[in-house]
Amino acid sequence: MAVKASTAFVKAETEETLSPVRRIPIKEERISTIELEAWLKQEERILRELKGNIGIGHTRYPTIGSTSIVDAQPFTINTPFGISMVHNGNITNYKELKKELLKKDLRHLYSTCDVEVILNVFASELQKKNIKKLRPEHVFNAVKNVFKRVKGAYTVVGFIAQQGLFAFRDPYGIKPGLIGVKGKGKNKTYMIGSESVVHDVLKYEFRDNIKPGEAIFIDNKMKMHRKVVTKPNHHPCIFEYIYFARPDSVLDKISVYKTRLRLGNALAKQFKNVKVDAVIPIPETSRTAAITLAYDLGVKYRDGFIKNRYIDRTFIMPDQEQREVSVKFKLNPIKLEFRGKNVLLVDDSIVRGTTSKKIIDIARKAGSKKVFFASTSAPLRYPCVYGIDMSTYDEFIAKKHSIKKIEKIIGADLLVYQTKEDMIKAAKEGNPNIKHFCTACFDGNYPTGDVTEEMLREIGRERIKAKKK
Ligand code: AMP
Repeated sequence: MAVKASTAFVKAETEETLSPVRRIPIKEERISTIELEAWLKQEERILRELKGNIGIGHTRYPTIGSTSIVDAQPFTINTPFGISMVHNGNITNYKELKKELLKKDLRHLYSTCDVEVILNVFASELQKKNIKKLRPEHVFNAVKNVFKRVKGAYTVVGFIAQQGLFAFRDPYGIKPGLIGVKGKGKNKTYMIGSESVVHDVLKYEFRDNIKPGEAIFIDNKMKMHRKVVTKPNHHPCIFEYIYFARPDSVLDKISVYKTRLRLGNALAKQFKNVKVDAVIPIPETSRTAAITLAYDLGVKYRDGFIKNRYIDRTFIMPDQEQREVSVKFKLNPIKLEFRGKNVLLVDDSIVRGTTSKKIIDIARKAGSKKVFFASTSAPLRYPCVYGIDMSTYDEFIAKKHSIKKIEKIIGADLLVYQTKEDMIKAAKEGNPNIKHFCTACFDGNYPTGDVTEEMLREIGRERIKAKKK
């Protein structure tokens, strides 16, 4: 099951005036359609009132800090020049940097959002140069120093008032970042976003991916300057392809959709000797892999579960009891597709096992003979410290139990996980130039090399605290 929750984008045009920054609170609680329409109208009015030619937006949930308005992006600073910034990712040395910024840079931060740290480091590095006229090299140098000081995963977009738009992607390139262009000559505009769908929807043409370790500056004459300022060590997040990104996105030249098709092909090899009557995806993410899985096994693909579109996400519900009840309301089985059959249910991942246990129970009650379960990803065992909300240390069922035991706990007749090797192969096939992926949530190998056991526990504790709040 998946709901995507992460996009940041920026757009630049040719005129010289620049927008004032407006921080728009995002309503997270349940709201009715009428309320939502009224709210959107009001937001549209606010947006129309904004003057200028550069805008940045952010819709990602927090993986550090709180969900309060104080932590909402963009963040703005008035010196030097006036800089505004948003990011996708997560900083791993956030606490140390916050202290360092106060002690060494004499900068006090007021939120618990990690982009405020990046912004202040960037501003501090830019300010050191005592710049009279800003040149792209100044931006590149500041970014180079950001890369030295800020650890973790971050793709950043922002603007420097009256000067232009900038973007950068950390040297590991864990989070995606894509450049799009629309129009020509005087009408040319740029957009930098965290997924290619953002460009598609707004009719921008894909130009390039931001390279890992690269800084980009688009000046107010619309000239784009690019420089890889630090030696890259590319490790794009594999979970973007498995679960997080939209299937219609292409990230680092790898189609998310095609990767998911290949994940299904790979899984099919593990079911060759199992008598399956129908393959049934658990909506939505696993649908793509289930198509090829069924095809390769030569059995029927069936939409056995219908999703209630009006219910909240179960994964982010604060406690286990709410999550369990919620799964039941969320998916309704088409009983005919289960009755008397050996069904193979497919999901993209198993985290705590809550969803799979409930769904298997629903499939049994709907009359299935046997219920097999497949995860299109390998077992998740480690928290993500790079921006996917999966950081509670003790919650991974596969960390605590063997696959056989999990099979028993979730009540499956057979549980099959994708192998890590096949999972990587499925993504890599889309772009063989990528030598490594970040697979930290599967194997605990955090590419940035700074993540300790204690750090993981601490992040886990903080996330629990923040969610309870
Ligand atoms: P669980 O019920 O805890 O085992 O969670 C498994 C379900 O959560 C699967 O259906 C996944 O699609 C979904 N999932 C995995 N990772 C995330 C995430 N970071 N945010 C929201 N949902 C997720």
